[in-house]
Amino acid sequence: MHIPHDYHIHSSFSFDCQMSLEQICERAIALGIPEICITDHVDFVPGDPSTGYFQPEAYFAAIEACREKFGDRLTIRAGAEMGEPHRFPYESEILADEYPFDFILGSLHWVQDEMVLQREYFTHRSPQEAYIAYFTELHTMVRVGGFDVLGHLDVVKRYGFDVYGTFDPQEFEEPIREVLRACVEVGIGLEVNTSTLRRPVHQPSPTLTVLKWYREMGGEIVTLGSDAHELAHIGYALADMVALLKAAGFTHVTSFADHQPYFVPLP
Ligand SMILES: [Zn+2]
Ligand SMILES: [Zn+2]
Repeated sequence: MHIPHDYHIHSSFSFDCQMSLEQICERAIALGIPEICITDHVDFVPGDPSTGYFQPEAYFAAIEACREKFGDRLTIRAGAEMGEPHRFPYESEILADEYPFDFILGSLHWVQDEMVLQREYFTHRSPQEAYIAYFTELHTMVRVGGFDVLGHLDVVKRYGFDVYGTFDPQEFEEPIREVLRACVEVGIGLEVNTSTLRRPVHQPSPTLTVLKWYREMGGEIVTLGSDAHELAHIGYALADMVALLKAAGFTHVTSFADHQPYFVPLP
């Protein structure tokens, strides 16, 4: 099945990725994906290995070069995966205003001074404490805003699963609905991210249940993202996510140009 876009791809402008923009574009074209967004990590938390790594001037020069070379075959959007924008509103706003990003994903990787993408966050908390602290912080992040779409809503389950076992969103329905309500009210969209599908937890982030809640609550803006850090993961399982979105009642994905959303019908 046709993949309408991949709106979460990292490149060598991220601290944890080696792919060049050219390689990414060639791979997307080979897969028949008509539109991509390069969302490199932008982080500000002291102690995060990504903090200070992103070089916007060089990034935009490389984006422009790829638009010249591949623009007749591929729509290339400039993006960022901004970590914890609510804690660094000044820094994130300056960057977003100063450069011509099409799209900003807001992601939560830290709860206070602990990274949720490692086991240690879970080993001294009960599942209730670990997940509720994350969703409460996420709710604050959405209310503060400053980004277009919320990245990997329940990525906390990636290592939570390794420590506690199965993650069931129904157990956290209220705090998750709080996050979704904030998204709908503030006009922030929701990403369906397939990186967690490649992990032992083996679920997209979020799953069908959560997508249905968002749709029922009036949510309309959804993007698809592989969160690829290597070529083999570009477009990963996104055709399956098209089917998932349809099952949740969506008829479109949303793409962005200069932060303006536009609907792309699901194939
Ligand atoms: Zn992330
Ligand atoms: Zn990412």
